[in-house]
Amino acid sequence: MHHFDHNLLTCIFLEVFPLARYDYHCSACGTTFEVEHPMSAHPRVTCPTCGHEAERVFSPSGIEFKGSGFYNTDQRGSGSSSSSSSK
Ligand SMILES: [Zn+2]
Repeated sequence: MHHFDHNLLTCIFLEVFPLARYDYHCSACGTTFEVEHPMSAHPRVTCPTCGHEAERVFSPSGIEFKGSGFYNTDQRGSGSSSSSSSK
């Protein structure tokens, strides 16, 4: 009787396909929840509240890039640290 080493397979699987977090929305009861699964996977996700099939949400919430937080790290005004006591 063959016994598959499921842990080893999962380990390899996760190494090749790192988990990503997705938002799923249940249109039946309006619940939005997060599911982690590999990026290339398209699992059938059901609502944890009512069991209805949920759909993935492609909202950009949480991945918002705002241009107002630009940091200027050009601070080379301080004198050179090589202040060796040269006589
Ligand atoms: Zn639901």
